[in-house]
Amino acid sequence: MFDNNSNKSRTSNRRKEDIIDVESFITDRISQLGSKAASQRGLCDSSKIYGGILSVVSFFALNSIPGGQVVVASSLAGYLLAVYGDYATTKRLRLFPSRRTVSGLSQDKEGNEDDRFIALNEDYEEDISYLGQKEELEAKFINRYFDELCEKLYELPVSDRSNTYQVIIDSVFSRKKQSKYYQYFEARSKQDARFMEAEIAAKEKLLPRKIRQVDIDYLKLEEDQNLFSRQLPGDQDLSQGSELFPVSEPAMTLSQDEPVLTGYQIFYSLIDSTCCYVAGGQQSGKTLLLAETTKRKAEEGILIFYVNWFSTKLDRDGHWEHVPASHKIETDISMLSPEEFMEVINQTLNLLNTFKLLVFGEHHKDCILVWDELEVSADKNSGDVSKATQPVLQLLSDLIGRLTGTGVKNGGSVQVLSPGYAAGSMFAFVNSKAKKMTPIVCSINKGKFVKTRNNKTISFNKSLLRQMANNFVSAVEVDVPIELASTKTERIFQFQEEWVALGDASDLRPCNYVATDDITHQPHNVLAQKKRSQIEELITKLEEDGYETLWSFAEAMEIPSSDAKRRFIEIVSTYLESERPDLASRFARNKEKEFSSFDGRYSYSDNIEKELNTRLLTNFRCCLCQKRSEDVEIHRTSYLGADDQPGKNMFPLCEVCHDEAHEAGNWNSTLDSIWSSHQTEGFTKRINLGLNFLTQDID
Ligand SMILES: [Zn+2]
Ligand SMILES: [Zn+2]
Repeated sequence: MFDNNSNKSRTSNRRKEDIIDVESFITDRISQLGSKAASQRGLCDSSKIYGGILSVVSFFALNSIPGGQVVVASSLAGYLLAVYGDYATTKRLRLFPSRRTVSGLSQDKEGNEDDRFIALNEDYEEDISYLGQKEELEAKFINRYFDELCEKLYELPVSDRSNTYQVIIDSVFSRKKQSKYYQYFEARSKQDARFMEAEIAAKEKLLPRKIRQVDIDYLKLEEDQNLFSRQLPGDQDLSQGSELFPVSEPAMTLSQDEPVLTGYQIFYSLIDSTCCYVAGGQQSGKTLLLAETTKRKAEEGILIFYVNWFSTKLDRDGHWEHVPASHKIETDISMLSPEEFMEVINQTLNLLNTFKLLVFGEHHKDCILVWDELEVSADKNSGDVSKATQPVLQLLSDLIGRLTGTGVKNGGSVQVLSPGYAAGSMFAFVNSKAKKMTPIVCSINKGKFVKTRNNKTISFNKSLLRQMANNFVSAVEVDVPIELASTKTERIFQFQEEWVALGDASDLRPCNYVATDDITHQPHNVLAQKKRSQIEELITKLEEDGYETLWSFAEAMEIPSSDAKRRFIEIVSTYLESERPDLASRFARNKEKEFSSFDGRYSYSDNIEKELNTRLLTNFRCCLCQKRSEDVEIHRTSYLGADDQPGKNMFPLCEVCHDEAHEAGNWNSTLDSIWSSHQTEGFTKRINLGLNFLTQDID
């Protein structure tokens, strides 16, 4: 019966809405409840004070003012009404206005046992005892199970989230500890604690390794073909290599269990005929995975094509030497003159047409096309660049569409590499095809940390997985099972919602590939050389003309948009860091330390002034904990260079809160570019709320 009632009130009070960003939905909800509590309390207290004072004063003046009895009666009634109103909503009888308590926690202790089954976290500051009982419970529930709630809702389709949220709150309110939802979230939050304990235990080698990297010959795949029957064409002949390479006995395994394949082995069996979207950040191992597997495919006679328009590394790493220059575009289009840029666009169009002709034409050849950095390549918001790239991307999408279409088996595939999946910033026609590809994730294992060349630490990135889970037609698993997380495995791989160890090239058959191309005479290398001499020329200019900041240098070089300036600065700073530390020190953020390419983010003329203005915004208080300190630090929720703005992307934070702002769950650390890391939406809201609160207080 209760359920029926709550269902009715739910549908009348709330429209069914699609929730896409769960974290900000819940953050919004709790701040709504918080401000409601604050205003209720204000209203209630002032009625009690005025009603109380008036009735007392007029009682003593009863006989000296005309109509005294009426005033006494009405103000007494006002007082009683306020007390009763408070009682009716909160079921608390409070005769006096509230004292400000240090935190909601002390108020919480007044309730009876039944009301306190959800303990508030210590950090909660609102005095929620002025809310109705149900809203009070809702606030407590969000406060206590914020992470678990977010995770649960993210697992659901967007259209079900709003309903489920309300069902959860209704159930917990009506059944208290008996609610299955309460029990579920409580167990889940305890499980996280257990997970952390298990991680520590694993580090101390107390846990046996449950998953191992199994060393088996790749030919063993034949027996496991049923595993991938959805992907493998029936006529594929995996024994093809057996004449070249002797079949060895499967390596001895540690137990009787079915051997677990590594990511390398799974991927190797897929790429001939399955179009994969391989997502993974820096250091996730995705580039090497593609390079090593396609190297072997090239040896088997499959033609490999490779396109990367944003190859930022100054020195080519040689991963793609097995791709003939005529089938390869490897450049950075943001560094090219307009003529060179158009040349690259035309070369790419030709390359795609060749691929198309070979795969779908009369004289079929098996081909694999690898498209690196799809996310930035397909950015619809880069003005003229987008206009020029659109026809190329249109052709690419058509090819993906044809190759992922049902029943098409042409012995060809497109493999896409990308650090993430930003559906909103890509051309819609790319998005509609890309999301139908087979999602593959390469990642750092949960609880492991890997250093980049710039000495930055990379770890498991859950928001990338949520992004994938929200966009792909096929399901993506967001979490890593503890059996895998507790192993020593550093890098992991996901296919069809299963995580396994990524493995490495030694899991595949040996490869005898020898580069035969005389690459020095190929067109892509002309571009690379041009780029090299171009940058050396630039650096000479930078040195001789004595620019004080990299941003002013970019301006002097007439780099048009802010975006282009940022890319330009990234290239210059990366070069300075590795090749010219002497000159670089001029642009170091901290003059006592060595220059790092990340310093390029702050190298603009009024940086110091903007940082001071940021501190003055709150009069040196931290936006999150509100403590005042001379050492208050400057935090940026995104990196914009000279477009930085106090209060927009720059906020004063104390050292402790600043660390929190950069924790994995609050901060998207992509590091593919010095500009790309940024705050999560939910945490940005928290910072903004804090800033609003502080600036109102000062006025
Ligand atoms: Zn703080
Ligand atoms: Zn920061």
